[in-house]
Amino acid sequence: MSEVFDKLIESARFFGVEAVKNAVEAHTKDPSRWPLAMLHLVTSFELASKALLAKQHPAFVSEKVEGGEKTVSIQGAFERLQRPEIYGLRLSEKDKKRIFGAVKIRNGIAHGLGTSNAASTEAKFFEVFAYLRDFLSFHLKLNILDEVERKTAVKLLSIKKQVHELEKRATNNLDATELVWYCQECDKDFMVEREGEFLCLYCHWEEPLNACQRCSISIPEWELLNAEELFEWEFSEEKAELITNYGIGEDRVCPSCFKELQEEVDTMAREEEWRYAEEEYQYYLSTKG
Ligand SMILES: [Zn+2]
Ligand SMILES: [Zn+2]
Repeated sequence: MSEVFDKLIESARFFGVEAVKNAVEAHTKDPSRWPLAMLHLVTSFELASKALLAKQHPAFVSEKVEGGEKTVSIQGAFERLQRPEIYGLRLSEKDKKRIFGAVKIRNGIAHGLGTSNAASTEAKFFEVFAYLRDFLSFHLKLNILDEVERKTAVKLLSIKKQVHELEKRATNNLDATELVWYCQECDKDFMVEREGEFLCLYCHWEEPLNACQRCSISIPEWELLNAEELFEWEFSEEKAELITNYGIGEDRVCPSCFKELQEEVDTMAREEEWRYAEEEYQYYLSTKG
């Protein structure tokens, strides 16, 4: 293996261990350490993703293909890892949300913008930690919990159990008939409509109601999709020109309306193609005549 890889995997291990230690400290003594635990965790993840790239080829870690000092961002690293010709990493939508949600928190902490409450940081920590642990062991053959003292590892797993308990409690508070949304704060699906706003039953984050412009269902802001993406645009230098909006009047819609609109647009586009082909054919016949 290359020197680049060795350095990256060693750093990923170092920050992973620091993340575990800080999480245990934060939980048992000092909740103000949660941001630090999160910071180390995301750093470890970033280094691990680059280590996996370096394992394929050291040059993949450079931001530019031609090489250079600057290395790729964590988002960039995951994008590259997903390419079949590089590694073909399979990343579910949930994993993506997990990783990039954690990156957002990390940036917030690093830029001094503060963090959300301790409960939500703790929940998020475990979501991301669970994924990092799998990532390191499946792809890089490193068991992070073997790298810390046994006592610390046991402690961490016992906190995880408590988090699981919280999750069970939140599940009990769910009404079987109510619509549940994903909560961006804690990365869990516990967002429900309560008394005129959204409330996360897990981390207790509150969020104002938003409505789908098509079916009027209440929906958290981050679940709304831009109908504009379905329009036909023509891109030229630095500007986009609208060709057709296919008669869609809405701006932001819920995922199921978005899917419906997408199907409508597909049908219209197909019909348009047929009409065009038909005209061409008629023209062909007329010139032959
Ligand atoms: Zn939440
Ligand atoms: Zn809708």
